[in-house]
Amino acid sequence: MTTTLGARPTRPRKPQLNLTVRSRELLSPSMVRVVLGIDEPERYADIVPPEKYVKLVFLRPGTEHSAADPGRAPDYWQLKEDLPGDRQPVTRHLTIRRYVPERHELWMDFVLHGDDGFAGPWAARAEPGDRIIALGPGGKWTPAPDAAWTLIAADDAAVPAALAVLEALPASARGEVLLEVDSPRDVQPVSAPTGMAVRWVFRSEIGGDEVPALVRAVRGAGWPAGPEGVQVFAHGEREVMKALREELFTRRRLERDQVSLSGYWARGRTEDVFQAEKKLPVGQVL
Ligand SMILES: Cc1cc2nc3c(=O)[nH]c(=O)nc-3n(C[C@H](O)[C@H](O)[C@H](O)COP(=O)(O)OP(=O)(O)OC[C@H]3O[C@@H](n4cnc5c(N)ncnc54)[C@H](O)[C@@H]3O)c2cc1C
Repeated sequence: MTTTLGARPTRPRKPQLNLTVRSRELLSPSMVRVVLGIDEPERYADIVPPEKYVKLVFLRPGTEHSAADPGRAPDYWQLKEDLPGDRQPVTRHLTIRRYVPERHELWMDFVLHGDDGFAGPWAARAEPGDRIIALGPGGKWTPAPDAAWTLIAADDAAVPAALAVLEALPASARGEVLLEVDSPRDVQPVSAPTGMAVRWVFRSEIGGDEVPALVRAVRGAGWPAGPEGVQVFAHGEREVMKALREELFTRRRLERDQVSLSGYWARGRTEDVFQAEKKLPVGQVL
């Protein structure tokens, strides 16, 4: 085998999943659920929650279907090779909130954050029969079944992942679930093991320059005396996740392998900028 010095290793291409919208349901004023049918389910064996995500693909007008076969979804990887920079598809990460194998169905819950962007505005208007491409799935984290105490902390964008993780915990799990949303109107019903206390915290109750609501809630959680047996799943806005580092690693003396700490988005950045910044110090959560 020959290697070219300096050549970048090519990442394996994620499989493409062609999806059709089945329904849309408003879960709260700030979140909408889109239920999607998988067009060729036999091609997709690896959808095992929790914290599995896909990249949804948003195509530029005119690149949706091939002229030769208008019924067929285009091949994402072919489009990537063929299209010039300004017509390239745009991708957005979304959690698989639930996979229903007997109906070949995926549920995705989208934050309604306004008219900017692709994913949120698409979901707000999705109608049965609309088609979309996804790439994936990705995501490997699973909760340890024998953890003594589990903390799940998430903002709206990570609520779907947090609830998928919560549903994957054993019935004997003990710990806390802290979910940050804007106001009490954004609360959703949650079912949890009896030992997992669920608390919603509200940004609207915090002044603009104060400690973020989620950070304050994590500091005030009912932590056990020592770090042994603790596991943490904390996902959400990048700067809020950075603000949790001191609490988790310094004050609570947790090791890296006890913590899944992940930025899902960054305020004022599109996902493209957020992803590009991961290579820079500002983009690094861990
Ligand atoms: C692994 C993973 C899983 C994720 N799962 C989900 C999920 O299940 N549901 C979900 O809604 N999001 C999820 N996200 C976050 C989502 O990918 C980003 O929020 C993404 O930016 C949304 O794309 P967009 O096209 O709607 O907005 P963009 O075009 O990316 O951004 C447009 C503007 O909206 C702002 N913005 C983006 N997201 C938010 C937000 N949540 N709140 C306020 N302002 C925002 C941006 O800062 C920017 O100013 C996940 C991210 C990751 C990495």
